Amino acid sequence: MFRWRPAAKCAIRSAHHINTKRVISFSSTMTDKFTLPARYGAGEKSVWIEYIQLVAEYKPAVNLGQGFPDYFPPEHVTKALADIATSENPLLQQYTRGFGHPRLVQNLAKLYSPLVGKQLDPLNEILVTNGAYEALFSAILGHVDNGDEVIVIEPFFDCYEIMIKSAGGVPKFIALKPKSSSGVITSADWVLDEKELSSLFNERTKMIIVNTPHNPLGKVFTQQELETIANLCIKHNVLCLSDEVYEWMVYEPKKHIRIASMPNMWDRTITVGSAGKTFSVTGWKTGWAYGPAQLMRNLQVVHQNCVYTCATPIQEAIARSLEFELARYDTPECFFTSLARELLAKRDYLVKVLRDNGFNPTVPDGGYFIVADWTKLGNKIDLSGEPDKYKDYRFTKKFAKEAGVLAIPPSAFYSEQHKHLGEKFARFCFIKKDENLVLTEKLMKEWSAKKG
Ligand code: PMP
Ligand code: GLN
Repeated sequence: MFRWRPAAKCAIRSAHHINTKRVISFSSTMTDKFTLPARYGAGEKSVWIEYIQLVAEYKPAVNLGQGFPDYFPPEHVTKALADIATSENPLLQQYTRGFGHPRLVQNLAKLYSPLVGKQLDPLNEILVTNGAYEALFSAILGHVDNGDEVIVIEPFFDCYEIMIKSAGGVPKFIALKPKSSSGVITSADWVLDEKELSSLFNERTKMIIVNTPHNPLGKVFTQQELETIANLCIKHNVLCLSDEVYEWMVYEPKKHIRIASMPNMWDRTITVGSAGKTFSVTGWKTGWAYGPAQLMRNLQVVHQNCVYTCATPIQEAIARSLEFELARYDTPECFFTSLARELLAKRDYLVKVLRDNGFNPTVPDGGYFIVADWTKLGNKIDLSGEPDKYKDYRFTKKFAKEAGVLAIPPSAFYSEQHKHLGEKFARFCFIKKDENLVLTEKLMKEWSAKKG
């Protein structure tokens, strides 16, 4: 039987026998030579790496941190993958077309053509990627050059900043700010200052990244807000990278508007979507970008030289799942409609739980996160023993340890100079089983009762 452990021990033992002096000088040369390239900054752990580790360490009773469902996706989706695994077609287990499995890009074209008001060319206007992450990466690396400025709306999905910087670009930040309100605050109350926004556009601006529905606030950008952005893009000849991974999670009466469908915007917009979010299969890590062929070519170049092609069985399963939903598109059972219905009840439940326990939640119009102000609880929780620099990191960690409920610190979604804007909040994910939302209520009540 193959036993790797003794062999590993053996390797360690022989390392001890190497002349120590030589090891030291070799390792100091290594330190100089093999440092992290500056384009990755100081190389800090991302909030996801850190907080997923915390789940293992703290074992919170409920994890409302990273955005993924803790229950099964639609049965037809997982069944499609199971069928493919045992399919009689051997080619379904082999490489497929690099820019996207033919059956998948054809179905994506069917889905999106009517939504953007233009017949999409599946072979040249759609790229399948390793999650929406890689779609963002290919769009940013494929278009942003040294010194190009990219406008980023804060709070923002954290990878945008490092991707822009690693492309040599310069992020220019503008924060959504809550209109002061004494009553209920919704994600629509978080707005951009139009003058500030237009002042960021200049001849160096290459791109603006728009995320609607928005992570973490759940803001669904209105027609008027998108028109303002579109007009600035047209006036200054700027690309719009539209991250729409939460496109199917929009709560009535709000409507998702695709900026690519607005007048004169198709030619300057790259839209990003995610099968993980669309079908509740985040572990499948498959996404896509679509846009005009001349813009998509740059993404193809990045993709072909780094990922080349994504997993065939997963792409085939997503293609079949899209076919299934397209066949019942206009019915209430279609998952693209039923998902938001199902999530609305969860949203309202968690909003109430948060309110009843001293948080002030922003009610989201879209997505599956709630950003809640925790500062009224500040006198009930001692954060002095938590070493983190930002208060929301301290709060979320201490709250996870004391109450057993894990949330994400929103300062992770701000640039260094604006992190203070996120410090008084915590982000809670509500795409969780009802029993876990009920458990959240119980845990928060118990925690509040203990604190008096
Ligand atoms: N954009 C946003 C706004 C996100 O929240 C996420 C996380 N799902 C992504 C992109 C990346 O999506 P994926 O898991 O498909 O890579
Ligand atoms: N988009 C999800 C979230 O915001 C997952 C994060 C991630 O995949 N890095 O929680």
